[in-house]
This record gives sequence, C-alpha cells and structure tokens, in this order.
Amino acid sequence: MNATSGRLAVYERPNAPFQVLEYPLRSPEPGEVLVRVSMSTICRSDVHSYQGHRPNPCPGVLGHEIIGVIEALGAGVDRDMRGDPLKMGDRITWSEYFIPGPSYFTEVLDLPQKSPGVDKYGHMAAATPPHHHGGFGEYCYVLPRSWILRLPDALTDEEATPINCGVATMIAVTEAAGIRMGQSVVVQGLGLLGLYGAAIAKARGARTVIGLDTMVGRRDRAHRFGVDLALDPATTDRDDLLRRVRQLCRPEGADAVLEVCGVPEVIPLGIEMLRVGGTYVLGGVVNPKAMVTIDANQLLRKLLTLRGVHNYHPRNLIEALDFVVANRKRFPFHDLVDGKYPLDRVGEAMADTAAGRVLRAAIVP
Ligand SMILES: [Zn+2]
Repeated sequence: MNATSGRLAVYERPNAPFQVLEYPLRSPEPGEVLVRVSMSTICRSDVHSYQGHRPNPCPGVLGHEIIGVIEALGAGVDRDMRGDPLKMGDRITWSEYFIPGPSYFTEVLDLPQKSPGVDKYGHMAAATPPHHHGGFGEYCYVLPRSWILRLPDALTDEEATPINCGVATMIAVTEAAGIRMGQSVVVQGLGLLGLYGAAIAKARGARTVIGLDTMVGRRDRAHRFGVDLALDPATTDRDDLLRRVRQLCRPEGADAVLEVCGVPEVIPLGIEMLRVGGTYVLGGVVNPKAMVTIDANQLLRKLLTLRGVHNYHPRNLIEALDFVVANRKRFPFHDLVDGKYPLDRVGEAMADTAAGRVLRAAIVP
C-alpha cells in the first residue's frame, strides 16, 4: 500500500453537515483486509442513524453497504468464505457485521449474527481506530471475523453493492417465510427491500406476489421485480384489499406475508391476509418502540407462525450473491441505484434519500 491517509465523510452529531476529513492509514493487521471503496449505497438505516432515530456514536462514519478493491491483505487472509483465493486488486463484498469470536451464539445456537459484541460497519465513531470502518470514505478496513466474498467481474458495482445488506437481508426474510414452489406472497412495502423480496420470492418458486405501497412510483416499478399486483393500502378499502388478495391467493389467503416497510401499524392487516397455517415475517421494523395491537386469538386460531429477522446468517451472503448473479437478466437490479454522489456530496445524497427523491443513492469516492 502506498497511501498514508484517506478521506472520510464524518458527521459531528445527528443532522449536522458532513465534513470530509483526512484520517491516517496503516498496514492491515492479521485477519484484516484494506480495501479502496468502489461504491457505498445509502441504506434506510443510515438515514435513521443520521437523523438520530437510533443511537450511533458521533462524530460518526456511516455506510455499511460497501464494495471495494483489495489494497492490502493482512496476515492469515488468503481465501474468501467460499474458499476462492484473494489477492490485491480483487473486488469484494463482505458481511455488514463482524463478531468478537466464538461464543455460545456461534457454536451452539448457530446465530453468529446475534453474537454478543457484534458490531457493524458504518456504526462506529470516526475516532475509533482504524478510523476507516464505514462506506462513506476512500478506504475501509474489513475487520477480523467478517465474511468476505470475491465478486465476479460480470456484476456491475450497482448490482453488487446492495448484496451485503438489502439482498442478504431479504434472502434471510424469505428463508424465514419458508417460501416454496407455487406459493403466494404479500410484500408490505415496495422500497429496495420489498423489490428484492418480490424477486427472491419469485426465484424461490412463488406463483403470485402481491405488493402493497402508498407511493405510486414504487408500485409502478414493482412489476419489473416480480410483483404481479401492486395495491395502494391508503386508498383501497380494507375489505376490498382483503378480497383482492384472497382472489389471487386462493382459496383463502397468502402463504406468507413479509413486512419490510418499517411501519408497525400494517402488521394487523398483514396477519389478516394470511391463510390458516401461514407465516408472517418482520423485516422492516428495526427501530425500538414499534408498538402495535394485534388480536392474538387470530395467531392461535389460524395456527400462524410469526418470525423476526435481524442481521442475516453468513450463509445468506453467499446466497445473495448467487441470486443476483443468476437473476440479473431477469430483474433490472442495476437500475435500483438511481443517484451517484462524490464523497463531498454525502449530505445531498442523504437528503435526497430521506425525501424519497432517489431509491438507492450511491457514494462513489
Ligand atoms: Zn442496511
């Protein structure tokens, strides 16, 4: 490595303007990889952190949907999680989180993603060494006990960047829903997660996917990602909504409903859309205090399964990459990144994302 420092977009406190600051670089330590960031996309949770809706240490570095090119490999890192060799110049993606080491969660529960002490990229203070641990910068250290995958050359940066958060999360959500051949699925929320969720449901063999979203632009776009019918839950009468869902999910409701809109109030309607024995999966209500009142008797009488998904299992990262590689001709994933900004315009990218002017803003340092 030649560079001795790199630039980072840092925010002093929630909603304060981003400043581009220079921080020192060092050679990667054992187990680390230093990458030059190719692209980092702004996830909804970056917006929540920046706006102060969830705690994040400040002055902070955001960005966890990241891909980059290997600048230097630390001792002991020569293969990715699939066993493919890694070398300088390879473009890689990696898990959005890293863990302290083996624990009851990794060894017994098979839930490494919820290990005590798990931390995420783009969730640490800029002052915390090695400083470069978020996507909104020129460099990022991939820290020990992250899961790395080499990216095939055929994928564009736009297709590859959301794999380690948006896509992998929806692999986990659809896995939790147990979607099988011929099933019908309702997706509540047609943002990036909902679109990937619809496409993955179809790839898993779903016969019908119904999407619900109040924004017309999102409903229009959804048809290109496997949604057969997109409805507006704000203007469609509740009974009419249920009737139309049952018409398509014969004979009596959806096999699975996926919540990816982050609005707890939609949960009761989603539960009502399920058939007897159906499964409801929560993937969007990531902020605390998502209070909602549900009729627990419905869960009991309809023999429903209710599941939550937070962080994905490392195996889902491999599945996410393979899904995008296999389906990039069927679904226009490249088009989901609809805004590109240099490092000194992170604030503008954040504002455009928060206002819904772009679906996925990309920082290209
Ligand atoms: Zn994310």
